Amino acid sequence: WSSTDFPWSKKVKEVLNLVFKLNEFRPLQHETINAAMSNEDVILIMPTGGGKSLCYQLPALLKCGVALVVSPLVSLMEDQLMALKALDVPAAMLTATSTKEEVKSIQDAMLNKNGKLKLLYVTPEKLAKSKSFMTKVQKMYGLGRLSLIAIDEVHCCSQWGHDFRPDYKFLGILKGMFPDVPILGLTATSTSRITVDVQKMLCIQGCLVLRASFNRPNLYYEVRTKASSQEECLQAVEDLLKTRYCSQSGIIYTTSIKDCEQLMHGLRNRKLRVGCYHANLEAPLRSKVHAKWLSGEYQAVVATIAFGLGIDKPDVRFVIHYSLSKSMENFYQESGRAGRDNKRAECILMYRLSDVFRISSMVFTQQTGLQNLYRIVEYCLDASRCRRAIIASHFDEAWDSQDCNAMCDHCCKPKERKEMVVTSFCQALYKLISNAAAVDTKLTAQKLLDAWYGKGAANLRDISIPVPKFSRETGEVILAHLLVTGYLQEDFHFTPYSTISYLKRGPKAAAAMSDKHNIIMHISGKSVPL
Ligand code: ADP
Ligand code: ZN
Repeated sequence: WSSTDFPWSKKVKEVLNLVFKLNEFRPLQHETINAAMSNEDVILIMPTGGGKSLCYQLPALLKCGVALVVSPLVSLMEDQLMALKALDVPAAMLTATSTKEEVKSIQDAMLNKNGKLKLLYVTPEKLAKSKSFMTKVQKMYGLGRLSLIAIDEVHCCSQWGHDFRPDYKFLGILKGMFPDVPILGLTATSTSRITVDVQKMLCIQGCLVLRASFNRPNLYYEVRTKASSQEECLQAVEDLLKTRYCSQSGIIYTTSIKDCEQLMHGLRNRKLRVGCYHANLEAPLRSKVHAKWLSGEYQAVVATIAFGLGIDKPDVRFVIHYSLSKSMENFYQESGRAGRDNKRAECILMYRLSDVFRISSMVFTQQTGLQNLYRIVEYCLDASRCRRAIIASHFDEAWDSQDCNAMCDHCCKPKERKEMVVTSFCQALYKLISNAAAVDTKLTAQKLLDAWYGKGAANLRDISIPVPKFSRETGEVILAHLLVTGYLQEDFHFTPYSTISYLKRGPKAAAAMSDKHNIIMHISGKSVPL
């Protein structure tokens, strides 16, 4: 499918350069475009930021008529429309809130032989619930003006996905209604089970499935434990920027706007050229920061996740996460802004247990918020495995241990992989939690660790529990492991000013208390002194 001998090949290249102002394709874009031009149904699995939109936008421009793009979120559609407008590509969207006039003018454009409209974004609800709209689409099809159907976030069709949306079920009728119009399903998350389910749902069994690799061979991954004092953390970043990344360009991600500003001021006080970027800054100021970074006036931008869309600087040499990301997907996408030029770049994640609870109290109300967060915590904890192997397994991709080429902290300095039985520690923590409950007290992770290490309030300590012989840092690692594997569980309480996370026994508590059960943790030989 990557051939350049198709009748449309010359045109494809021209549109890529002249309309989209891009020099070359990213992996699988060309293949997908050729398949869509050949009227093949395709499911494209590509990491977020990999460039999926181009795969339907470009064929939509070359084909006669209008492409229907089904997208679940109005905010995503708005972003797309803005980007297309900047490129002078005629596109529109129809949502539940479109006015009568908008609907009318779009419908005219759909049916008019000389209409210029090339892409029409709709929500799945619109297709499922508006009969009159579907009638118009059928008319358009009858006139030979329905060029292709793109379905974004196509995993939402599947019950097995993390994101099932009932309205996506309706999309199953499209193939029967428009048999010769190619369907292009796009997603960043799809196991083979989900893919098969999606094919069935859309009635495109056996269609072409293109799966881009999540592996970025030129990115070096490293995890560091953060020091406990603010000052030391700052020092660590300063050292990186002044020595390892001296005169190189990068991004530093923080969790909150407050952290973002603080870190920027801290680094500026240390004579570093950095700017900050977050949603509370006015648009012109944000553009200015972006421009100064592009020109090299700023070595780095300290940013929240608001810094993302449209960041295409090719020579980003480092991305530092000053705190955990919310999920592996977020981490992958944010760190993936490094090394777009395919030269070596580094992705460093700085992490500390207390970060987990700050973020958990922000995300726990989201449907899969906590599970997503715990997966990235596992990535941090497991220093006994190749970081890329963990990323690959998260994205359900096959992995060979030779593939890393020493491009992660683990493979760079391989350490012995050891097993550690932590059952008795888990039981000790349960006892401390019950003791506290008996005096009507709940324990945060820090208070629980204090009690375990014989510190803090006397009535929360327990002399029958031995004080650990290992460092508090190791104690934190064990606690985090018990949390992400379900032996401990967070219990959130609201106060007028914040949400507090307390710890309680997790769903696996019964197993942990039985004599026959061993809780085993993998650690790397040197990193954890026991
Ligand atoms: P996805 O939908 O896969 O998350 P997008 O389609 O939003 O990704 O593209 C992510 C970014 O990559 C956009 O800023 C886009 O302009 C850019 N991009 C896409 N294709 C290319 C390419 N061939 N060369 C350079 N940049 C590209
Ligand atoms: Zn590795």
